[in-house]
Amino acid sequence: MELIRFTDRIFYLPHEEKTDRPLLAYIKGEKFSLAIDAGNSADHVDKFYKALEAENLKKPEVTIITHWHWDHTFGMHNINGLSIAHKKTNEFLKAEQDKFKDTSYLDILKRDNKYIAREYSNNKDIIVTLSDIEFDKELVINLGDISAEIFHTQAPHSEDTVLIYIPEEKVLFLGDSTSENFFNNNYMDINKLKSLIETIGKIECKTCILGHAEPLDKNDLLDYLESLL
Ligand SMILES: [Zn+2]
Repeated sequence: MELIRFTDRIFYLPHEEKTDRPLLAYIKGEKFSLAIDAGNSADHVDKFYKALEAENLKKPEVTIITHWHWDHTFGMHNINGLSIAHKKTNEFLKAEQDKFKDTSYLDILKRDNKYIAREYSNNKDIIVTLSDIEFDKELVINLGDISAEIFHTQAPHSEDTVLIYIPEEKVLFLGDSTSENFFNNNYMDINKLKSLIETIGKIECKTCILGHAEPLDKNDLLDYLESLL
């Protein structure tokens, strides 16, 4: 699978349904570059970096995590440079690390989650790491000619939801924030969804990019989300 050039400065490796790999994005700055999400395994990161190399793009110096779920974080130990996550993301990852101290946990995960079983069918170890840098509310990174506005927000999918807005390209990265809560019987909290719809509405983005979908027009995404209320 090849890297998609979405704009001159935004690229992404598409999501893969078979192993639940989310889309991994790359924002190319003049000074340095930023990746969004660390993928579901070391192999996923390697594939992303190979795809970047094929386009003569250097490895990202910084990787920002949208939320703690395995498919977005289990590749974090294998990234180039520094990782950034919300402090709640690190709290969830710390809890996950503790669970892995029980050697039966991996077997349980593989039994209950066919995507984890497929991704780790090579019997490679799962390594959970916390981020190098953590933040609480928001963070702006100037990559040189392009910037990333990173902020924590309320969303139905997870407590640690982080959105990334690239104002120069009017692109908003949403991770899985618009989906229901997988860890609460797929419960869709309507109030949190309303809050997220309001947040997206206020941002002057044209395109919304989710973790497991093709990029969407902002209005199409909002129409869809409003139909869930
Ligand atoms: Zn998720």
